[in-house]
Amino acid sequence: MIQERRKSSNVLLDTALQEFYGAADEMGLNERLISILSHSERRVQVSIPVEMDDGSVNVFEGYRVQHSTALGPSKGGIRYDVEVDMDECEALAMLMTWKCSLAGIPYGGGKGGIACDPLNMSKKEKEKMSRTYGARISPIVGKWSDIPAPDMNTSGQEMVWIMDTISKMRGDLEPSLLTGKPVSFWGSKGRNEATGRGVATCGLEFMKMLGKNPDSMTAIVQGFGNVGSYTAKTLNEAGVKVVAISDISGSYYSEGGIDIRKAFEVIHSNPKKILTGFEKVGNCEKIDNDLFVEADFLFPCARDGMINRNTAGNIKVRYIVEGANGPITPEADEILADKGVIIVPDFLANSGGVIGSYFEWAQNLQGEFWSEDEYNRKLVNIMKGNFRRVWDYAEVKHVRMRRAATMAAIQRVADVVEMRGTFL
Ligand code: NAD
Repeated sequence: MIQERRKSSNVLLDTALQEFYGAADEMGLNERLISILSHSERRVQVSIPVEMDDGSVNVFEGYRVQHSTALGPSKGGIRYDVEVDMDECEALAMLMTWKCSLAGIPYGGGKGGIACDPLNMSKKEKEKMSRTYGARISPIVGKWSDIPAPDMNTSGQEMVWIMDTISKMRGDLEPSLLTGKPVSFWGSKGRNEATGRGVATCGLEFMKMLGKNPDSMTAIVQGFGNVGSYTAKTLNEAGVKVVAISDISGSYYSEGGIDIRKAFEVIHSNPKKILTGFEKVGNCEKIDNDLFVEADFLFPCARDGMINRNTAGNIKVRYIVEGANGPITPEADEILADKGVIIVPDFLANSGGVIGSYFEWAQNLQGEFWSEDEYNRKLVNIMKGNFRRVWDYAEVKHVRMRRAATMAAIQRVADVVEMRGTFL
């Protein structure tokens, strides 16, 4: 019997499902595997009561979704944001399954988060929230089952709170339980920059395929958080002129190129780590929307859905490398395809983070500590190889890169599901 195909009112989840079904049909995947892989293995919701600084109690909702553990323990970030919900986590968990598969690492896909407004919470409130969340997801996470990491609005600090809580509950130090830890506490040199370095590496490989020298290329980097800032830095160091950057404080433009070092100074001196006031010290102007600037490349590294039917028509770049997860809606994808824009999909471009996480986990399991050079060298080599593989696959199959990457990723997971069978 053919199972009815899933639809979702959540844009991100529906996008992930429709892309999966489209690729699966194009590959001729059988209905049995389509049914299995279009559902998540586990979707967990937890309530997190937190005594706020003013004495009131706020109950936050937290989530953890494990889409697939076929290839290995599920792997994926934990995000803090007002818009976090179960469907968003499920969509992102599915993307993680494809991302890990495509990256060639032995992980499945997971994702979690808490619906909250972290920018308006004190450190103490965030600590209590993180620890209680950790305690409540403890039964389903572990070094061989599900390995969280930082994501939007979370960092090494949140990982340490969660790891410390679970370690104390279990009476055993669990460093390999999660990744993205600070270097001073079981983290890995290079991990903080890994996602952005990987995104930029894809961009630079793309330029190579186009026969272009980075010195002759201009770029927009949307979002100046973890991913965006290191994407901009790595591109800049390779010679690319970054003409516009942005974050929640606004968009900043300089025809001669943004001073990335100055931008880092501004965020590091701001308690909320944002670019407020950058136009006063960065020799640049504040503009309405960085997406509409003229440049060769756009690296959307802020959040999902930023390039949608309202914004896609005004985009002037020819090449996009997706740093954020799901920054382009399906409608926008079509608009951009009609305009001839070539897009490197998120789960290829931003897989440097999870490859880097794998390096951290592997070091933790073996009690090893690699040098930053060793870490970066391995990361860049893998990213280049993966980019080339998808580029070539897209050419051979005559499909866009997103479709090529999805097909290659699904194939590996499907093969393993077949091999392992469907016990439970
Ligand atoms: P972050 O919180 O460090 O940074 C997000 C940035 O986007 C901030 O600078 C924020 O101000 C900016 N932003 C938010 N709304 C914006 C808007 N409307 N316009 C312009 N800028 C806006 O988060 P991050 O870790 O850099 O993650 C960014 C994206 O990359 C997310 O989609 C995340 O899922 C994805 N991602 C992150 C990693 C990682 O290792 N951190 C790995 C893979 C994918």
